[in-house]
Amino acid sequence: MFSRNLHRLRHTLAFRLTLWYAVIFSISFVLVFILFYLFTFAEIERKIDEELITELREYTLVLEKNGMREVAREVNTDSEAEGVSSVFYRILDPSGNVLLSSDLSAWKGLSLNRELFEKTVSSGEHVIETRWIRGLEHKSRILYGRIGPETYVQAGLSFGPNEQFASIFLKLSGIITVGIIFLAAVVGLFMARRALRGVEEVTETAQAIAGGALERRVSLEDRGDEVERLAATFNLMVDRIHALIRETREMNDNIAHDLRSPITRIRGTAEVTLTTGRSLSAYEAMGAGTIEECDKLLAMINTMLYISETESGAVTFEKHEVDMAGLVSEACELFMPVAEEKGIDLTCNAPLPCPVDGNITMLQRMVSNFLDNALKYTPENGKVSVGANLNGHSAILNFEDTGVGIDKENLSHIFKRFYREEKSRTGSGAGLGLALVKAIIKAHEGKVRVHSVRGEGSCFTVTLPLHSNEG
Ligand code: ADP
Repeated sequence: MFSRNLHRLRHTLAFRLTLWYAVIFSISFVLVFILFYLFTFAEIERKIDEELITELREYTLVLEKNGMREVAREVNTDSEAEGVSSVFYRILDPSGNVLLSSDLSAWKGLSLNRELFEKTVSSGEHVIETRWIRGLEHKSRILYGRIGPETYVQAGLSFGPNEQFASIFLKLSGIITVGIIFLAAVVGLFMARRALRGVEEVTETAQAIAGGALERRVSLEDRGDEVERLAATFNLMVDRIHALIRETREMNDNIAHDLRSPITRIRGTAEVTLTTGRSLSAYEAMGAGTIEECDKLLAMINTMLYISETESGAVTFEKHEVDMAGLVSEACELFMPVAEEKGIDLTCNAPLPCPVDGNITMLQRMVSNFLDNALKYTPENGKVSVGANLNGHSAILNFEDTGVGIDKENLSHIFKRFYREEKSRTGSGAGLGLALVKAIIKAHEGKVRVHSVRGEGSCFTVTLPLHSNEG
């Protein structure tokens, strides 16, 4: 159980982030300490060297002014003042023989580095080395230098307490580093998990939705961070999918309903004819009725396919310059007999050419659908006016009627496939006209707006981009 949890934890983003932070943090921390240590050590070394060189200059002056005896006194005074275990001085001749020295009881393992000494003898310049002298606890800096004619000094200063300080500092830093890294890892893991909690919630919700809980959403806390935005977008996406599923379901119900009625009628007529009809004319009537119903069904199915093709853009329609003013006028002439028959006053106002890039068959279908609806939903003695005008780079078409109007809450649905207002269900039509119109307008990069008041009438306005030469 524990190992499984550990395994799972190891694969989490939070764990990996923490690990990366911890590694980067440790490396940076260790590097800073190493640099600090090296810098401190170099500084200690510089200070010791400075001290040794000052002594060298002092002995040179003392030898020159007061002679060897005074140098011997100085050597003893200096070593006793500093501590005989921390410092030593030896005065040598050019062959390396000791002429005099300070108390060397603590420096038993001391020897002469011949190579460096000879270098000093030949060049007259001082040299300094770091050496570990046997029997001593700490390393030392040893200087070889010339203090007068045929007279040289070998002076040493132990790193002593400085080195002790440096090693304590190093140990302490090590412990602090480990502690801080551990603390940083724990805090980092906590923070990373906290930051990624929202992601986990999105995952859990997605899993629940995949399991069938379509109503589940990620709870938002108004933090406004990236995870919250992800959650909000996720919720929006699920809402959209949910709405699409609902619409598809409604559409399927509508299709089933619209297909069932004609099929029931065909079946009913056939049954009645078979059981009661004895004459040829009865069978002929049944055949004619069946053909009529089938034509309606076919027209419906073809329109559905036409809408799908137009919406998906799978079929490319040939486009040419089409004058919408002319097209609208022709359609009005075509529908005039229907209007007259219904006692509706149909007027057309298209004074100027309105050329657009489009497919004439599709545009004719669009205008016919609007006109057909206007006449269908306008009672006797009503008015229907159609207009085509120019506005900037657009052609504006209006289809206005004084008909039954549309309820405000239904306006957002009328362009959906198979949608028909409850009050219109009894009349002819399949609820596909406006869906088709919308698909055609979209294929022509146009827009459609509707304004309607129940009982007063409706006005559909279509905006289409003008033919490019004109625009
Ligand atoms: P239908 O075949 O029912 O006319 P449409 O897709 O053309 O289908 O229209 C969808 C619905 O929009 C109609 O059922 C009707 O309720 C409403 N509608 C469309 N045009 C008008 C109009 N001019 N006046 C009133 N209602 C309309």
